[in-house]
Amino acid sequence: MAPLFLYNTLSRQKEEFKPIVKGSVGLYTCGPTVYNYAHIGNLRAYLFEDFLRRILEFNDYKVKQVMNITDVGHLVGDMDMGEDKMEKGATREGKSAWDIAAFYADSFKKDLIALNILEPSVWCKATDNIPEQIKLIQTLEEKGFVYKTSDGLYFDTSLVPDYNKLSHLPLADLKEGARIEKNPEKKNPTDFALWKFSPVDAKRQMEWDSPWGIGFPGWHIECSAMSMKFLDKQLDIHCGGVDHINIHHTNEIAQSEAATGHKFFNYWLHGAFLNISGGKRMAKSADNFLTLNNVLIQKGINPLAYRFAALQIHYRKPMEYSEAGLKQAALGLNSLFSQVASLGNEVGVLDNKLRQEFLTVINDDLNLPKALALVSMVMKAKLSAADKLATILDFDKVLGLDLDKAKNFVAADIKLEELPAEVKELVLDRQKAREAKDWAEADRLRQEIDSRGYIMEDSAETYRLTKKI
Ligand code: AMP
Ligand code: ZN
Repeated sequence: MAPLFLYNTLSRQKEEFKPIVKGSVGLYTCGPTVYNYAHIGNLRAYLFEDFLRRILEFNDYKVKQVMNITDVGHLVGDMDMGEDKMEKGATREGKSAWDIAAFYADSFKKDLIALNILEPSVWCKATDNIPEQIKLIQTLEEKGFVYKTSDGLYFDTSLVPDYNKLSHLPLADLKEGARIEKNPEKKNPTDFALWKFSPVDAKRQMEWDSPWGIGFPGWHIECSAMSMKFLDKQLDIHCGGVDHINIHHTNEIAQSEAATGHKFFNYWLHGAFLNISGGKRMAKSADNFLTLNNVLIQKGINPLAYRFAALQIHYRKPMEYSEAGLKQAALGLNSLFSQVASLGNEVGVLDNKLRQEFLTVINDDLNLPKALALVSMVMKAKLSAADKLATILDFDKVLGLDLDKAKNFVAADIKLEELPAEVKELVLDRQKAREAKDWAEADRLRQEIDSRGYIMEDSAETYRLTKKI
């Protein structure tokens, strides 16, 4: 067995993974705030977590994965100020916050299915676990970490000497970041809300009674309470995107360790961003966001092309979105499907040496770009087609590209007479435009053909038509 190394944000080093309980792993993956569609940046984070989960399983660990759904308490401002994102979504759409949560949670689950992301063992919603959150706040109160202001209960971060142990930022920098949204009643800029009171002059859609008054939980407390509830003592790995390091996960650690007096999760893994247009982070709040539906599914591109693109970039490196890049990934996946389909139907015996190499690279902090390159090595190896297929299908337990169904996806050449009439006309018009050397018109027509789900590639004398996968 090759040891598994994971880069732990706590130590800023690759560490050999050792579970708390032999043979099994508790994995907590911070889930979506369901006030809008997930964008493909969010989905990059869930793809990374899915690769991690599959790699753990490939290493024969039994994985218990918990994912929360944030359906209350995540405010527009990071520092517990501003509107609740759920109520904001409700106002935007003229629906109740509860309906918004149900709709976007459902849409999120559909995205996961489209990307072959395995379903977590446990789904849990913040609103279903309010008593657990109240209890945790009570414990913190008993231990003296809580103070009250006019708008809620806050955690006093000055009582935690290693508050910056995850972020590794000088405390002064953390404070500076927190100062942007000033709340004059907070004792320290980094203090955060555990419970917020409902406003006196307006009724919230989501609110609960508590020992301190009617209100709702702060965002961070849900992940502490639910990870302790569902993973109990198996607090092995906790994940999210890099934006969670300085605030959300830092606060989860501070309050959990203050409450229990012992370490909260041994390994913290964070996925880098998907950026758009020159290094800008894709964000729900920035209106620059693209969904799986509008960039892939509606354009007739197999959503797994995005999974394939994510496999090509290490999870700790930023990924830049471009339409051209995504098309390239779709072609690459198409080519992989054809190669695998060419191996036939018979599944032989997997090659142990190649499997070992695969295991070594994936166990090096999820080096999936290298793992993908190994697939080409299998294709070139001196093995029978059946044994190659067996080896590649084994790798696909981690890659998750549906390679067992490769044949169904292979784009076959299409003859002109097989095309729907309108597409056939476009193809003929395009030929005429090319003969007249009207390249602009030819290009426009190619795009029209493309938008109808067909790819037209030119060669010197002729052209090739395929249907998009
Ligand atoms: P949210 O729904 O905003 O709570 O975010 C859900 C997940 O997506 C979290 O793990 C975030 O860290 C992650 N995330 C947000 N924006 C991006 C992005 N542009 N690229 C990658 N991950 C992101
Ligand atoms: Zn969380």
